[in-house]
Amino acid sequence: MIDHNYNIGYLNHCQICYSKNLTEVIDLGYQPLADDLIKKTNINRECIYYPIKINLCKKCMYVQNNYIVGDNILYNKNYHYRPGISKSIVNNLKILAKETIQNYDLKPSDLIIDIGSNDGTLLSQFKFFGYNNLLGIEPTGTYIFHKEKNIKVLNDFFNTKTAEKIYFKYNKAKIITTTNVFAHTNKLGEFIKGIKKIIKKNGFFIIENHYLLDVIKKNQFDTFYHEHLRTYSLRSLIKLMKLYGFYVYNAKTSDRYGGNIQVHFTLQKIKPLPNVNKILNMEKNFGLDNPSTYFKFNSRINIIKNNLYEYLNKNKSKYIIGKAFPARASVIIHYFSFLKDHLQFIVEQPTSLKLGHLAPGTDLEIINSNFLFKNKPDIMIILAWHLFNDISTKWRKNGLKKTVFISPLPKFKIYK
Ligand SMILES: [Zn+2]
Repeated sequence: MIDHNYNIGYLNHCQICYSKNLTEVIDLGYQPLADDLIKKTNINRECIYYPIKINLCKKCMYVQNNYIVGDNILYNKNYHYRPGISKSIVNNLKILAKETIQNYDLKPSDLIIDIGSNDGTLLSQFKFFGYNNLLGIEPTGTYIFHKEKNIKVLNDFFNTKTAEKIYFKYNKAKIITTTNVFAHTNKLGEFIKGIKKIIKKNGFFIIENHYLLDVIKKNQFDTFYHEHLRTYSLRSLIKLMKLYGFYVYNAKTSDRYGGNIQVHFTLQKIKPLPNVNKILNMEKNFGLDNPSTYFKFNSRINIIKNNLYEYLNKNKSKYIIGKAFPARASVIIHYFSFLKDHLQFIVEQPTSLKLGHLAPGTDLEIINSNFLFKNKPDIMIILAWHLFNDISTKWRKNGLKKTVFISPLPKFKIYK
C-alpha cells in the first residue's frame, strides 16, 4: 500500500511511487549521524554508523536515500542545530516572513504555524512584524527557545494525531511553513495528511528545502546525509503533493544553504504564478530527468576528492584547521576521510552549541573560533563552504593575513 510512511532500515523501492527501478547516484558509505556530536567529557561513547546510499528512481525521477534511520533517533533532546545563531539565516527567514505577510495579505488574527520550528526563529520574524497568533511544532530540545520569545510551541512530532490536537485547540491555519523539515521525515504521508487537517481552504503551505538542481550543479554531495531522505526538484514535489490534493501556486529558488527551493501549495485550484513554469523548464533543460546527469555528478566529486587529497598531502606539515561544523561538514569529513588525519581541530563561532564536542566518529574537537586570534593557522578548510566569502573575508579582517583559505566545494579552490 502506498502510504509514504517508511519503516526503519533499507528500502527496496522508491519512497514516492514505490517502483523498484532504482539506480545509484552516489554511495557515501557508512557514516555516523551528522549531528551525533560527542561531548569531550564522554569520549567512551561510540557513534553508530548507518549507510548513505543515494538512488534515483527511474520511473518518477525522485532522488532519495534508501536507508531510513528513523525520526526518533534523529530528532531528540540532544539536537544541536539552531538557525537563530546565524545572522544570514535569521535575515533570510525575516525575508520569508515579510514576503508571506505581503503576498497573502495576512491579518494579525490569522494563525501561522511553523512545523519543525526549531528555536522559533522564523516565527519570531512574524512577531517582529506584529503577528502574534503563532504556533511552533518542534520535537527536539530546541523547542525551549520559544519560551524566551514568548511564542507558543508544541513539543512533539507532527502527524495526523498532533494535527487533531492543534485543530481542537487552535482551529485552522492561514499559513503553514516548514523549512528544512519536509525532506527529513520518514512519516511523510502522516505529515501531509496532518497539514490537510489544519490548513484553511484559502490557506497556503510553504515548503522550503535544499534543491536538487543546485545539489547536482554545485556538486553538493554533502547535502546527502541521513536526515535528508529526499532531495526535491519542483517537478517531483508537485507530483507528490498532487497525490494529496494540493496544487502548486508559487515557487522560487534562493542561495540559502548553497541552494534552496521554496514552494507554495494550496487546496484551491488556482492558476500558478509564471515562476512555476520557469523553474520547471529550467529543470528540464538542465537534464534532471536524465540519469547521465547524475553519473557525471559522481565523477566530478571524485576529481575534487583527488585534488584536495593531493594538496593536503603536499602540505601535511602545515597547521591546518577546519572552519565551522554544519551537519553537512560531517559528510565531507567522512567521505573525504583523509581530512580526519590532516585537520588539527575545527572551530565554530563562540555561540555555537557544538563547542566542546568531537565531530561524529572522529577525535576532532570543535573549539571556540576566538582561539584563532592568537593561533593563526596556515591553512583553513572552510567546511561551511556555502559561506566561503563571508567566512574568508571576516577572518582576513580578523588578522589571518597569511592563512590560505580552501573551499572543498562546489569546486576545489585555493584562496591566498
Ligand atoms: Zn519513483
